[in-house]
Amino acid sequence: MSIKAADIQFNQYGTPFTDQFDDIYFSNQSGLQETEYVFFKNNQLPKRWLTFPSAHFTVAETGFGTGLNFLACWQLFQQTMLRQEDNVNGSCALKKLHFISVEKFPLNKDDLETALNAWPQLTAFSQQLIEQYPDLVEGCHRLVFDNVTLDLWFGDVADVFPAMNNQQSGIVDAWFLDGFAPSKNPQMWSQTLFDQMSRLAKADATFATFTAAGFVRRGLQQAGFDAVKVKGFGQKREMLAGKLNLKIKPDNNQTLTPWFTQSPATGNKVAIIGAGLAGANLAYSLSQRGYRVEMYSAGSEVAERASGNRQGGFYPQLHVQKNIASDIQALAFGFALRRYQTLLKQGVEFAHEFCGVLQIAFTNAIQTRYQQLADKSQWPGSLVELINATNATEIAGVTMPYPALHIKKGGWIHPAGLVEALIKQSGTKVHLNHALTDLVEQDNGWRMQFDNQAVQQADIVVLATGDCSHNIKQLNGVPYRLVRGQVEQVPAAGALAQLKTVLCHKGYLTPAMHGDCALGSTYIKNDTATEHRLEEQNTNLAVLNKALSECDWVKQVKAVQQGRASVRCSTPDHLPVAGHIANWQQQLEDYQALYKALPAAQYAKAANLPNLYSLSALGSRGLCTAPLLADYVASLIANEPLPLPQTLINALVPNRFLIRALTRRDTPYSG
Ligand code: SAM
Repeated sequence: MSIKAADIQFNQYGTPFTDQFDDIYFSNQSGLQETEYVFFKNNQLPKRWLTFPSAHFTVAETGFGTGLNFLACWQLFQQTMLRQEDNVNGSCALKKLHFISVEKFPLNKDDLETALNAWPQLTAFSQQLIEQYPDLVEGCHRLVFDNVTLDLWFGDVADVFPAMNNQQSGIVDAWFLDGFAPSKNPQMWSQTLFDQMSRLAKADATFATFTAAGFVRRGLQQAGFDAVKVKGFGQKREMLAGKLNLKIKPDNNQTLTPWFTQSPATGNKVAIIGAGLAGANLAYSLSQRGYRVEMYSAGSEVAERASGNRQGGFYPQLHVQKNIASDIQALAFGFALRRYQTLLKQGVEFAHEFCGVLQIAFTNAIQTRYQQLADKSQWPGSLVELINATNATEIAGVTMPYPALHIKKGGWIHPAGLVEALIKQSGTKVHLNHALTDLVEQDNGWRMQFDNQAVQQADIVVLATGDCSHNIKQLNGVPYRLVRGQVEQVPAAGALAQLKTVLCHKGYLTPAMHGDCALGSTYIKNDTATEHRLEEQNTNLAVLNKALSECDWVKQVKAVQQGRASVRCSTPDHLPVAGHIANWQQQLEDYQALYKALPAAQYAKAANLPNLYSLSALGSRGLCTAPLLADYVASLIANEPLPLPQTLINALVPNRFLIRALTRRDTPYSG
């Protein structure tokens, strides 16, 4: 959902300030030095980094503002890592900085750019931030830079931190407790915030804040921090800093829903089963985290099944009302776009056009719905806008006598080309013609048996098996739904050759790739045959003609019995399956009495199969959802902060169907 942008102005020194809080964002004379003193020095950075025992260090901040703290921290990290590389004696376990920041009133992109002009010494970093700066949609926006990941959560700290997953034992190593002064922003500086800081903190976490307010010190102490007054920056007498000494709230959000507990993996060798968009994005995300990844596919080529269409529309499917599905779509779309643009900037090639997508309002009812959807309080105009028929015609390049929703950053992508690019870029070894026939848990990892008699081992296995998932016994608690879809490859003749944006009606039509457009798609439940059918070609044409009946040019669209059918994998709730795979039998026993709704603490934590995960059931939305969900699964495996709030995690976890059935006292699905 759209959230309110910061209402900022710049004073005569170019310093941003806001009337919303009657405060400045930073001092122009000494903003950077203050950041260095208050947040870095008092969290013992960079000293702690040099001897830090794990691969990633996590900072969490309240109030992203202009991103000054983040950018300066990134610069310090980069300088420290480079010095460390030069130091022949020094070997440093730490490889990555993970920076979490929460912002209730984000700056819009233009204001951000203006504000950051004040710091020319940070330009190399601020330009990258500005390039990737997300739409103002509520939720977590993960921005990936070389060795730094920024999870920028748009929302109020009071909502965001309680919804944040803290893996097994905390995620935060250092807190930057920023935000406008407590006197100007009393709501933020609450005991709930201090308690959440404690809940999310790792055992050795530190904190620092510019304020020395007594209630902040007492609140932090009550939450389990050793909060002491130290010398403040410059003229300021005092500030607070300290260390977590005792976890007042030892447990985490898993206490509310122990049945959705998931765990990270051990080991470094990963086998991904499946070479479609899910598998390729997993390979990319896991290799970025230093895993040795090999991929196995039943096909003789990668992207042979549902990811094998010539062109796929790339856009988020948004809803008028805030709901889980559209939250995932909007956030995943932003992440996917950032990932694709990063690949393209690296010189990786795959056929695509970010030519925009028009969702055509071809009936009055649709128009009313789209009007509500495009209301700026729902989704920001930078993501989606309602445009009139004149503008739609101009954007489409063909007559379009209907208003439409315009998703200007969307477009189409050649999925197989993208899959190949991701695999190549991740350096993944692919084993084709390997259909998994058996998967057996071993003392340390998994043994995989394939139809060609090959046997392989891996520490960790991720099943990205799309429409083959229901054949795998470890996934037999997931009631996959299979849906056939046929897409026509139509010659870009006549007016169709002028089409320059993706059109979505009841089906969709793309601009040409190598002389042919894609016209899709049928939707036939439980049909798993993949031959091209004349009857469905006629259906695709008829649907186009009926929806866009006022477009004369549509009558000229001719199909030539060329196209492709594949089987998409979905679920009854239409959401993907992403996460740790259940030990179904054990969970069935543990949660037999779930319908009694006893206090959550009385139920065991979920028993899952060690080191076994899945990313599947992306339906026809893999271009949009696969990157973020793959990065989520990779983060889960690697014990890193997760880029989704607990509500979305719970909506994606593979055992949700079992849990729902047992809550209702129904018989759970079992393959
Ligand atoms: N750290 C920032 C930087 O490096 O530019 C400066 C932060 S500025 C002084 C304070 C920020 O906290 C503002 O951007 C404000 O919108 C944000 N903020 C205030 N109350 C908040 C809340 N309850 N939840 C999230 N952000 C909040």
